[in-house]
Amino acid sequence: MNAFLVFIILMVVLISVGLYFSSKSHYVCTECGACFKLGFLKDFFGFRILAQRLTKCPNCGEIMLPHIERD
Ligand SMILES: [Zn+2]
Repeated sequence: MNAFLVFIILMVVLISVGLYFSSKSHYVCTECGACFKLGFLKDFFGFRILAQRLTKCPNCGEIMLPHIERD
């Protein structure tokens, strides 16, 4: 088995799962209640991997830990 091929398959699976979850959920600001999405890349490399991450609200500009809700 080619290790590189396994790596590529793993990456494709990870990105598919990330895309699926980022399209199925959104964030809610704990300060003003605004709903927003971070976009796939920020979502994937930020929140999904680090689990807890502070984010700047695009509505009120407050730095907070957003609440995740399913769409
Ligand atoms: Zn806000």
